[in-house]
Amino acid sequence: MPRGKTHIKINLVLALPMGLIILFFAFKPTLTTIIIFTLSLLYNTVVFNPDLDIARYVKPLSLKGILYFPFIPYSWIFRHRGISHALFVGTITRLLYLFLLTFLVCILWQFADSGITFEFESLAETLKYGKYNQNHLLQLFAFLNTKKYILLTVTSAFVYGDLWHIVLDRCLD
Ligand SMILES: [Zn+2]
Repeated sequence: MPRGKTHIKINLVLALPMGLIILFFAFKPTLTTIIIFTLSLLYNTVVFNPDLDIARYVKPLSLKGILYFPFIPYSWIFRHRGISHALFVGTITRLLYLFLLTFLVCILWQFADSGITFEFESLAETLKYGKYNQNHLLQLFAFLNTKKYILLTVTSAFVYGDLWHIVLDRCLD
């Protein structure tokens, strides 16, 4: 298995410049799009890539460990080199995971913000009656709907980065 550093080097030396050239000539992007694409690809290179399926094995007291920490449950669900390493499908699993995580954080934030003492019983009750669940989900969808263009750029960068990761994994096996 190529080490993480090989993925980082290849992405910085080949994937990023090639991606920017393709983006530039095929889509005539704005500066904002270029910045969003670059930052998304860098995040994909360092954190949000198919190797999140081994997040639980990363040393917790390291920079990588801290960045990987929110994805430990992801690595419980997906075995190494399984669905996580499938093109498109793997990216979608990570996006859905991130979406779910954001949603849960929103719920907890709402609890903290409203001054309600956090209790598991009240959280369970709220979820059961769907009040917070539906409102927050709708708010989140409405928010995401206004940012469609950004989401498309970010997702494209993730899929593009994952393609490089998967190909490199296969080539260096
Ligand atoms: Zn891999």
